[in-house]
Amino acid sequence: MKIAFIGLGNMGAPMARNLAAAGHEVTGFDTAAAPPEGVAMAASAAEAAAGAEVVITMLPNGEILRAVAGDVIPAMADGAVLLDCSTVDVASARAVAEMAEARGHGSLDAPVSGGIGGADAGTLTFMVGGSDAALAAAAPLLDIMGARTVHCGPAGNGQAAKICNNMILGATMVATCEAFALADKLGLDRQAMFDVVSTSSGQSWSMNTYCPAPGVGPTSPADNGYAPGFAADLMLKDLRLSQEAAEAVGAPTPMGQAATAEYEAFVEAEDGRGRDFSAMLPRFSGKARG
Ligand code: NAD
Repeated sequence: MKIAFIGLGNMGAPMARNLAAAGHEVTGFDTAAAPPEGVAMAASAAEAAAGAEVVITMLPNGEILRAVAGDVIPAMADGAVLLDCSTVDVASARAVAEMAEARGHGSLDAPVSGGIGGADAGTLTFMVGGSDAALAAAAPLLDIMGARTVHCGPAGNGQAAKICNNMILGATMVATCEAFALADKLGLDRQAMFDVVSTSSGQSWSMNTYCPAPGVGPTSPADNGYAPGFAADLMLKDLRLSQEAAEAVGAPTPMGQAATAEYEAFVEAEDGRGRDFSAMLPRFSGKARG
């Protein structure tokens, strides 16, 4: 297939490289990044998109996505599909889908989980919003870049699924870390804490798979000095998107709100920027009850 790939950063570069390695003709564009292996670079997003059957975007936020969509949609071939894999607000995802569909193009929002490791290995999970026809056209590419695709419904529903999942993840990570810090102060050994909670009703992905305590449970960023992994800054981005969406539809999210406030303080007022999101544990260990 002829593919355009706009946004070749930490995630986009390995995804584009995997598509090229599978034999697709990939033309890329990025305002800053170097060309990944096997990818020819265009001088603009519109130039990359001209003649492509699928235009993939992997960009930092909704504002940039809207601007890039405004450039590429008029340049796209009739009936081509715009496949956005960025994590953006639900409103931007729906606005871009409307723009694309008004010009007769297919459109999918397909945010991912799996991080840079998953992008590199081609094992991402895609959460997809959009039509069956657009998904059928993009499916062979999703199969190369990822291991699992879940069709979540119409436009915007991929982003909705992503922020709901990450709101749960943020809240359970805060809960897991504060419980470890409490256990420390109560004189409960971290290994005993893990052995009980990981097999009891307090278990979660944060405890069982990504344990924030070093030397306990499976290997995780805690065992690597809390180098990310999944950076606290990116968790804050996703939590803010969840709160923006909750406000837009009037949904009460007290735990999501509390987790957002914790990550906001950690990243913006303390030393959380650039650290893994599980570094909430040493943060709580170093604090007294307020
Ligand atoms: P990144 O900052 O490394 O890459 C974004 C790229 O977009 C950069 O290379 C930048 O130069 C480029 N860019 C910015 N404006 C542009 C424009 N107008 N035209 C063309 N290129 C432009 O970010 P990333 O880590 O690759 O993340 C991309 C998206 O994936 C984000 O929405 C992020 O939330 C999401 N995501 C990231 C991870 C992760 O672990 N990094 C995991 C899941 C989802």
